[in-house]
Amino acid sequence: MSDLANQRPTRIRVDLGALARNVAALRSHVGVPVMAILKANAYGHGLVPVARHFEACGVDQLGVAFVEEGIALRRAGLRLPILVMGGIFGRQIGLFIAHDLEVTVSSLDKLRQVEATAEAMGRRAVVHLKIDTGMERIGVHSYSCGPFIEAAMRSRWCTVRGIYSHLACADDPAHPMTALQLERFLEACAHVERIGAPMPLRHLANSGGVLHFPATWLDMVRPGLALYGVLPDPAARCGIALEPVLSLVSQVAYFKVVRAGATVSYGATWTAPADTRVVTIPIGYGDGWPRALSSKGEVLVRGERRPIVGRICMDQFMVDLGPQGTAYNEDEVVLIGTQARGDATAGAARIRVEDVAAAAGTIPYEILTGLNERIPREYVGG
Ligand SMILES: *Cc1c(COP(=O)(O)O)cnc(C)c1O
Repeated sequence: MSDLANQRPTRIRVDLGALARNVAALRSHVGVPVMAILKANAYGHGLVPVARHFEACGVDQLGVAFVEEGIALRRAGLRLPILVMGGIFGRQIGLFIAHDLEVTVSSLDKLRQVEATAEAMGRRAVVHLKIDTGMERIGVHSYSCGPFIEAAMRSRWCTVRGIYSHLACADDPAHPMTALQLERFLEACAHVERIGAPMPLRHLANSGGVLHFPATWLDMVRPGLALYGVLPDPAARCGIALEPVLSLVSQVAYFKVVRAGATVSYGATWTAPADTRVVTIPIGYGDGWPRALSSKGEVLVRGERRPIVGRICMDQFMVDLGPQGTAYNEDEVVLIGTQARGDATAGAARIRVEDVAAAAGTIPYEILTGLNERIPREYVGG
C-alpha cells in the first residue's frame, strides 16, 4: 500500500495477537493438524502478512482457492505445503508443479492431464483427490469413485498426499446432511484400503465441521472463517474461545445539522424527522462497504451505536447522531470492532462482522472478502 493510501483515515486493523490465540485455541481443541485457509486475500485480512503469521504460529499447511494465490505465497517466500482447492485448468498444471503447489484432482480426466504434464516436466505432482459427497461443486461422486481412486493410487507421476471432500451444511449443528457426507466420504476412503495402498491424509472439516462435528476432524481440518474469529452461524454455540481479528475504522469527515424534512443522499430515500445532526464518513461501496447497508446498518461514534441514513455512496455515507448527538471532525468511527464508551466503566461498545452481515442480508464471509485493496491494512500485535 502506498504512503498516499496510508493517509486515508479509513483502515483495516488486523490483530495478529488475536490470530495467534485463535490458532492455538483451535489446534488444542481438535488435536489434529490444521490447514489454514487463506483464499480471497485471507478473507480480506491480507494474504501474505496473514500467511507469514500462520507459518510463525506453527500451522501445518496452507490452503487457497486459485493457483495465482498459491504462486503469490511462494513468491513471498512461504515454505509450508500449499493446497490449491479450486478446479484446475490443463494450461495451469505446469505452474502448480513449478511452484511446488499441491493440486486438487477432481476427475479421472484431470488426473491424466496432471500425469502427462508431470511426466513431460520430469517432476512428480503432489495431489489431493476430491470426492463429491453432496456439495455437487467439484469432485468425483462418492458412489462412483472406485476407479478414480485406484488410478490415482497407482499413478507413477502423482503422489497422492490427501483425499478430501467439502461439507455443504456444517454451519448448522442440527443438519443431517453432515453425517451423511461423512459416511459417504469414509466409504470412498475404504477404496484405498481395499487396494492395499497407504491411506493419504483424509480431510473434511471446514469451520462448521471444526465447531460442531468432531467426527469430521479425521487427519486434518481446513478452517477458514473460524481462524479469523468469526462464526459461520452466529446463532450456533461455539466451544472454542475465538476473538475477532479484523477491525474496520474511519473518521468523521464532515459534520452538519440537517433540517426536519430534508432528505439525505441519492434517491432521497431518508427524510429527517426533526432537526438532527448528521456526519459523513469517507468509505463506501467502492471499498466493499455494502450498499445493502443503506438506512440499515449502524456504526460506533463516541461509543454509541448510530444508524446509517440514506443510501451508501461509492466513497461516503451518512450517519445520524440524533438531535443531541455530538461528534467532531476527525473523531474515530468504528464500522467493525470495538470502541470505548463515553462512560469508561460501561465497557466497550462492539459491532461484529456478523451484525454487519445480518443488516446487509448476507453472510460474514461476503462482508470480509468484499473489503478491497482500496483500504489500507495495518498489522498490530505481531
Ligand atoms: C473455503 C473452504 C474451506 C474453509 O471454509 P470455512 O467455512 O471458511 O472454514 C474449506 N474447504 C474448502 C474446500 C473451501 O472451499
